[in-house]
Amino acid sequence: MRPACSRRSCMWNSETRWMRSEIHTQVCVLGGGPAGASVACLLSKAGVRNVLVDDGAGRAVLWKVGEGLPPSSRRVLQMLGVWEEFLSDGHLASFGNRSIWGSSVAVEHDFLLDPHGNGWHLDRVKFDHMMRTAACEAGSLCLSGSRVKTFQKNESTWQLETDTDSIRADVVVDATGRTAWWARQMGVERAAQDQLVGIATVVESEEANADRDSFTEIEAVENGWWYTAQVPGGKRVVAFLSDGDLPQTKAAREADVWRSGLARTTRIGKLIQRYSYQLTEAPRIFIANSSHLQQVQGAGWLAVGDAAAAYDPLSSQGILMAIGTAIEASHAIQEGTPASFAAYEEFVHRTYRHYLDARSHFYAMEQRWRTHSFWARRIPAEGKG
Ligand SMILES: Cc1cc2nc3c(=O)[nH]c(=O)nc-3n(C[C@H](O)[C@H](O)[C@H](O)COP(=O)(O)OP(=O)(O)OC[C@H]3O[C@@H](n4cnc5c(N)ncnc54)[C@H](O)[C@@H]3O)c2cc1C
Repeated sequence: MRPACSRRSCMWNSETRWMRSEIHTQVCVLGGGPAGASVACLLSKAGVRNVLVDDGAGRAVLWKVGEGLPPSSRRVLQMLGVWEEFLSDGHLASFGNRSIWGSSVAVEHDFLLDPHGNGWHLDRVKFDHMMRTAACEAGSLCLSGSRVKTFQKNESTWQLETDTDSIRADVVVDATGRTAWWARQMGVERAAQDQLVGIATVVESEEANADRDSFTEIEAVENGWWYTAQVPGGKRVVAFLSDGDLPQTKAAREADVWRSGLARTTRIGKLIQRYSYQLTEAPRIFIANSSHLQQVQGAGWLAVGDAAAAYDPLSSQGILMAIGTAIEASHAIQEGTPASFAAYEEFVHRTYRHYLDARSHFYAMEQRWRTHSFWARRIPAEGKG
């Protein structure tokens, strides 16, 4: 028996249940990040029954990378009906980017003339929680701390087994992030453009109140690039981005080497020092490459967000694209034809191709270290002058 729900739907965890549940639904969404929560929310709003299964890994952490939201995010958050809640959640307004990229001079791009207003620096744990709650409140059945262990296809439906539930669904949505767990089970290959990783941590300071710099700082260095952004709670995220196979990157996994790399930057190291920010934990490594699934959909399944295509953090587009693919996928599912799934796949691949062109353009703007491995791999031959 299920526990009684006081709301239209509820989030239960395994401790509150003592019997295996049989769930019959139209769509089973695997992964409760921004992509999975958005697709679940949109399907519920359209009257499509769905279950959102998240393994809960994101809740076990105090912070998550991926904190910058561009101004245009406002439109999609309004569409999802979470804008008012988002505004009251204490995320920080961001008024632009400042970069040392292509020359030693810092260049500012502010959001002053952006019709959508300012951008945002998020508390990602809080943001992801808000998105999942929106899905639950819209009517999705949210299974928290749960993973599919086995599955099989019976004619046109999927039978999925978690530790506590048997789920029968017509469509599975892979929203498991870069691991693309479901697509891998389907035997689909992932193509990676590079080996970018982020080595990142959060720094804290008692003097953080004096730090009023709401810009995202980006700085190219000979083996990659750094960024820092304020996040709520008097903290900053600081990250070094480089290719994981390079010896210098391997060395930078050590906190001392990472710290001395930071100290050699022109602006970011000084900013961190000026307000006496201290490391709260050793830097962690995150996969940050540009990669995509060769096949984004198949009979009775499709992939959204990072699972479908993942973007370089330089673009600051990951969350927006996660929600964008969720919007398109929810339309494809509602139409429910092979043609609508194929059109969705074409959308993902086309958007990714455009992104790759933009990415090449931005990396080619930095020519100062074009013979160094990191930059040589990214600067097209004609741009090497
Ligand atoms: C260093 C770095 C910096 C970044 N900076 C930015 C930025 O400034 N702005 C921006 O927009 N984006 C940024 N990104 C990218 C952004 O974080 C991602 O694009 C975004 O999180 C994608 O959302 P998603 O829902 O597709 O995947 P995720 O956020 O990865 O969510 C996947 C969810 O699925 C769950 N899950 C995984 N496997 C399973 C399974 N088998 N069963 C059930 N659940 C599962 C996970 O626990 C998680 O909750 C950055 C990324 C990196 C690495």
